[in-house]
Amino acid sequence: MKRIGAHVSASGGVENAPLNAQAIGATAFALFTKNQRQWQAKPLTEESIARFRENLERVAIDARYVLPHDSYLINLGHPEPEALEKSRDAFLDEMRRCEQLGLELLNFHPGSHLKQIPEEESLARVADSINRTLERTAGVTAVIENTAGQGTNLGHRFEHLAAIIERVEDKSRVGVCLDTCHTFTAGYDLRTTESCEQTFGEFERIVGFAYLRGVHLNDSKPDLGSRVDRHESLGKGKLGWPVFDYIMNDPRFEEIPMVLETVDDTLWAEEIRQLYALQR
Ligand SMILES: [Zn+2]
Ligand SMILES: [Zn+2]
Repeated sequence: MKRIGAHVSASGGVENAPLNAQAIGATAFALFTKNQRQWQAKPLTEESIARFRENLERVAIDARYVLPHDSYLINLGHPEPEALEKSRDAFLDEMRRCEQLGLELLNFHPGSHLKQIPEEESLARVADSINRTLERTAGVTAVIENTAGQGTNLGHRFEHLAAIIERVEDKSRVGVCLDTCHTFTAGYDLRTTESCEQTFGEFERIVGFAYLRGVHLNDSKPDLGSRVDRHESLGKGKLGWPVFDYIMNDPRFEEIPMVLETVDDTLWAEEIRQLYALQR
């Protein structure tokens, strides 16, 4: 079945996230396990961990449909050694938090070359960062998100995702998350059934649906190929409904968390309902 939710608030503690997901009728969700705009975070308390697991069970959402997102500060392809180290430490901490919560996925943006090193070198650093983290952890898959390609961000071409995966040693613990807004603003059309066929066909050829571990369901404020990352509520942006209809009726998107990161959280319950209503 299709597992749909949103990136819900974890304010007051991670244990609140499953309840926030349930309140909007979600069957999957995303969350931050720490403040996403700060480097440092207090460790999760035993109580918080226990209550998170309890609540997850109570709302009957399996851990594999939870897609935690890491901090926006982390750059695993950083050109400078010290900054790279700082990002790697923070990423390891994020992954350990997922381990503690019994979660299986960690979603992150690959990184940025900052115009200081070639793209390929930065991509190799991202892969190296993933390898180091996977060696020190167990049970959590590193889920690389495709990006809009804003500034010097890597990950806007399917080839970037493939290049990272190629260098990851444990292929069973690396995957990708496709963001519909990012895919579109990176230059892959998704406005019609035909363009979805074409774009997802290209994704299959270059990366492979075998690696697809999550989806971010967002409409887009900016236009095709603008390389700008700005989400819009479903049906209200440049994408419209066809791509969401396509995804909801394509078996390649079964049994993975698909979460809204749309701008108006008061619409999430309705958006989830509308998505399920698209199924034929
Ligand atoms: Zn996203
Ligand atoms: Zn985005």
